Amino acid sequence: MRGIVFLGERELEIQNFPDPTPGAGEAVLELRASGMCGSDLKFYRASKDGGTAALGLGGGGGGPVIAGHEPCGVVVALGPETGEYGVSVGDRVMVHHYHGCGHCEHCDVGWSQLCQHGITVYGVTGHGGHADYIKVPASTLVALPESLSFETGAAIACGTGTAFGALQRINLSGRDTIAIFGQGPVGLSATQLATAMGARVIALDIAPERRALATDFGAEVVIDPGTDDAPAALKELTHGKGVDLALDCSGVAAGRLAAIQGTRVWGTVCFVGEGDDVTIDVSRDMLRKQLTIVASWTFSRSGQAECARFVADRDVAVDDLFTQRYALDQAKEAYTLFDTQTTGKGVFLAH
Ligand SMILES: [Zn+2]
Ligand SMILES: [Zn+2]
Repeated sequence: MRGIVFLGERELEIQNFPDPTPGAGEAVLELRASGMCGSDLKFYRASKDGGTAALGLGGGGGGPVIAGHEPCGVVVALGPETGEYGVSVGDRVMVHHYHGCGHCEHCDVGWSQLCQHGITVYGVTGHGGHADYIKVPASTLVALPESLSFETGAAIACGTGTAFGALQRINLSGRDTIAIFGQGPVGLSATQLATAMGARVIALDIAPERRALATDFGAEVVIDPGTDDAPAALKELTHGKGVDLALDCSGVAAGRLAAIQGTRVWGTVCFVGEGDDVTIDVSRDMLRKQLTIVASWTFSRSGQAECARFVADRDVAVDDLFTQRYALDQAKEAYTLFDTQTTGKGVFLAH
């Protein structure tokens, strides 16, 4: 089978791998959709030696690793000892793209990415979804609701699921005004989902293409933080108070600081975007406002299923996130464009 491998420094290659066969507890999926996530750019851009360290996930340890951590497809083979997972050949499934020890307090409740005994991240440290097939533990599979497309499933497998998890973490309600910094795939998903949850959404991005998408997805107001004073603009839109909630999906220091400074007294800021750091004046920016700052890293296996149910029940147009659709052999073109960070989401589709 074919698989896309990042070589570092914005180079990639389509390599050949043996077709996977499932061992005990494992399933093989034929991939139908494999999404491109913003965090893939970290690996795509990484130096040629040990790029996976960029996200604090440890090295891949020897041998090329197939990229893509938003796998979605159909089960085509099951190994022995998979009966307990309730999956059958032919099922449409997503992958919860992490695997831990399988029996600690975090693995037990479906948060395998928090396992302290070492994790596999499919598409980063284990073979991912930019391929014809993927082999994963059957315990990582999450059913894809019948009404959702494979590409929607791929988005839910990281970007959209991450947005959903963050909105849950800050208990977004329909009474809230939320500012969402960064309208890449995660931020745009947050705009869509927060709108579906009834909140008033203010979306911020420096790219005009992404601000236009945010408007299409329900943002009431869009702001260009490159030219506007974002905290001042947010206060102006909220009777001088600042927003109730802010989500930073940009991962850049300026976005994080503006999120903190544009949020009201007693408000909550959630960090979602990865990379960089931020310096704040704790007294002025945090203490004197009784501010809550939390972080949210993706979602649990059951959280992924819950996101899928919400998207299906509320008819959230997740497919519309995808502005580019590719075949595997267009990988170079796909990542060259995604690297500009001006587009919506890209996805590799099998035909
Ligand atoms: Zn564990
Ligand atoms: Zn991701």
